[in-house]
Amino acid sequence: MAHVKCLRCRECGNEYPIEPLYVCDFCFGPLEVAYDYDAIAKVISRDRIANGPPTMWRYHDLLPVDAKMALDMGTGFTPLIHAKNLGGKLGLNKLYIKNDSVNPTFSFKDRVVATASAKALEFGFDMLACASTGNLAGSVSAHGAKAGMDTMVFFPSDLERGKILGAGIYGATLVAVEGNYDQVNRLCSELADNHRWAFVNINMRPFYAEGSKTLAYEVAEQLGWRAPDVCVVPGASGSLFTKVWKGLKELTDLGLIDKAETRMHIAQPDGCSPIVRAYNEGTPHVRPVTPDTIAKSLAIGNPADGFYSIKTIEETDGSAVIAPENEIVEGIQLLAETEGIFTETAGGVVISALRKLALSGVIKPDDVTVAYITGNGLKTQEAIEDVIHPVYTSPNYADFMESMAAREKKTQNG
Ligand SMILES: *Cc1c(COP(=O)(O)O)cnc(C)c1O
Ligand SMILES: [Zn+2]
Repeated sequence: MAHVKCLRCRECGNEYPIEPLYVCDFCFGPLEVAYDYDAIAKVISRDRIANGPPTMWRYHDLLPVDAKMALDMGTGFTPLIHAKNLGGKLGLNKLYIKNDSVNPTFSFKDRVVATASAKALEFGFDMLACASTGNLAGSVSAHGAKAGMDTMVFFPSDLERGKILGAGIYGATLVAVEGNYDQVNRLCSELADNHRWAFVNINMRPFYAEGSKTLAYEVAEQLGWRAPDVCVVPGASGSLFTKVWKGLKELTDLGLIDKAETRMHIAQPDGCSPIVRAYNEGTPHVRPVTPDTIAKSLAIGNPADGFYSIKTIEETDGSAVIAPENEIVEGIQLLAETEGIFTETAGGVVISALRKLALSGVIKPDDVTVAYITGNGLKTQEAIEDVIHPVYTSPNYADFMESMAAREKKTQNG
């Protein structure tokens, strides 16, 4: 662990030891892990990474955990797919889909929970917990089960069925809170102050957040060690968005890739887009909103990394894009029907934003473009029920032909 220096306040720069801390005592700014990049530069190389395991742990030199303590559930090194069909429709020749919906609990959250749970084990916590918009609950529950820890996951009570079941199956205590995510988060912050529980995205947040960087490293490696020209990333708290950029900058600084000149675009649903709205108003100060969106995994009205997300957009000459609520399911369908990838509502938001950026010419035809698909469609089945229509028939030839004819007639009549 010689490569990790300390925790450092993102605002005033004050330094703290590597402990379960997350806010600065002096200015209440968020703490971030600081590394000794000279020490890392001495050991890291493309070869060393390539010889590592086919998981996110191949980048352990750039993560704040003791890799030997980490639970390797097989997270990461997910497919980067050259999306020729979708690219063809959008006029993009070099469009890639980073399909992170195939992680052990079917979302990118396994990356952040992998680092946070390893750290919780190192610190000697018995209880792994979280405030979740949905996917985090499943991942925390699975990692807790694997680690033999107690788990308690908190989420808004209107969460999709698939996400509740997908967390409960691992034996976690499920706490369905009558309120939105921001209210869940407030309750959990109070609990974290009063109990020795490891809330992965509260008191473990500095370590949690670092796991997202692996989504930058992998894409760069899979592109043959280069940064994309354009990234389209979904935003809830904004953490993933800022960390993808941090990861690309680290690779540049370590000489593993040529200078990253990636334009970073964040995508939010119309019903919860506080970061996009602040960006459009020309201010980095994000005003909280009350979420009302079908993209529940992105429903954070008061995003912890909103300010830093806007800084990332400005630094990279990127932008912030709203997906209208009625285009989210269309986005899910478009990706499924062109590339055979079934994503959840957050992915629908990304595809809707990608389409807008491509059709308006913000993304050029030959830009190497990566769209991050962060969650699996089987967990948000409610969202698409109205657009899926089986043909019902008895097991009889004539009945089948009749049902098909009836269906054809119906489609013709609109
Ligand atoms: C949590 C989540 C995100 C975004 O998370 P941030 O809070 O912005 O880091 C994106 N997509 C899915 C599917 C998620 O579950
Ligand atoms: Zn500070």
